[in-house]
Amino acid sequence: MEISSLIRKNVLKMQPYSSARDEFKHEADVYLDANENPFSNGVNRYPDPYQNELKLQLSALKGIPAGQLLLGNGSDEVLDLIFRAFCEPREDNIVILPPTYGMYKVLAQLNAIECKEVLLKDDFMLGVPKVLEVVDQNTKLIFVCSPNNPTGNSIPLDTIIELLENTNCIVVVDEAYIDFSPSTSCLSLLARYDNLIVCQTLSKAWGMAAIRLGMCMASPEVISVLHKIKPPYNVNKLTQTKALSLLADASKMLEQLEQLKTEKKRVKEALHTLDYVEKIYPSDANFLLVKVKDANTLYDALMKQKIIVRNRTNEPLCDNCLRITIGTPVENEKLIAALNTITL
Ligand SMILES: *Cc1c(COP(=O)(O)O)cnc(C)c1O
Repeated sequence: MEISSLIRKNVLKMQPYSSARDEFKHEADVYLDANENPFSNGVNRYPDPYQNELKLQLSALKGIPAGQLLLGNGSDEVLDLIFRAFCEPREDNIVILPPTYGMYKVLAQLNAIECKEVLLKDDFMLGVPKVLEVVDQNTKLIFVCSPNNPTGNSIPLDTIIELLENTNCIVVVDEAYIDFSPSTSCLSLLARYDNLIVCQTLSKAWGMAAIRLGMCMASPEVISVLHKIKPPYNVNKLTQTKALSLLADASKMLEQLEQLKTEKKRVKEALHTLDYVEKIYPSDANFLLVKVKDANTLYDALMKQKIIVRNRTNEPLCDNCLRITIGTPVENEKLIAALNTITL
């Protein structure tokens, strides 16, 4: 597949920003090239624009060569870079599959890209023929979120393969919740499909939402174009350092995942006993989508008790649904206690 034919012409032609440290890649004794304050305080020097040390860790963790990895200021920045690399404003379009993560549409609007919407099926599965029907020669990106936010289900690998094999556009699979999921990551497909981009984040399972670190894994060709357009110092030094120290303790994260799995089961059982709960959707993620008798009233009642959940009732196929994140045992206990005081 010709990736270069999908890249915006101005991006193909442009010269990326280059610093003196790009020209001299070894260790020097004296750095007088970047107008930094020379007095050391831990953060007076610009951070590594390639995040080499962090990429070494992450590429080992993910089993992906560092050349197939790009890091961003959260995966939201990575998603924005993907738009800017491939989509010609006011010409190209993308396809999203609602109900899904809201940022794809926001980024499309921001970048002046038409956003075509193909609803998931009633069981929240993806109908490939329906997607292919709206794809045209200006469709550059198809966004698949798996496990999907806010529905919690995973899209089977076979479905994603079917999509990859039947289109000439880039398929972006957003795996923000993959660490919670028993299903296989699309990373296993990277070697076979140049038009696949997989996004993951350290914000959810890894517990690093505040430091903003997202990643994108794709063919070397896609990664090099994203690298070319990214802001040089998009991942700051504090983030790189903190991520390295927290990534070193994978066992702690895995322990928390186990605990969250147990808690999810407990919250689910408690929800089942409430007469105003109509349906709890199966979830591979760290949240439950719950259909109730009257979502707005329940949402307000919980808020009065200082418990905030996400009201998704205005999303397509999510009529009267709340999305509830699984918290700590104490938080979940408070939620359950509050739910038991409410009648709808
Ligand atoms: C939370 C979330 C993200 C955001 O990730 P950041 O790395 O924190 O920007 C991306 N995609 C989905 C589907 C999410 O739910």
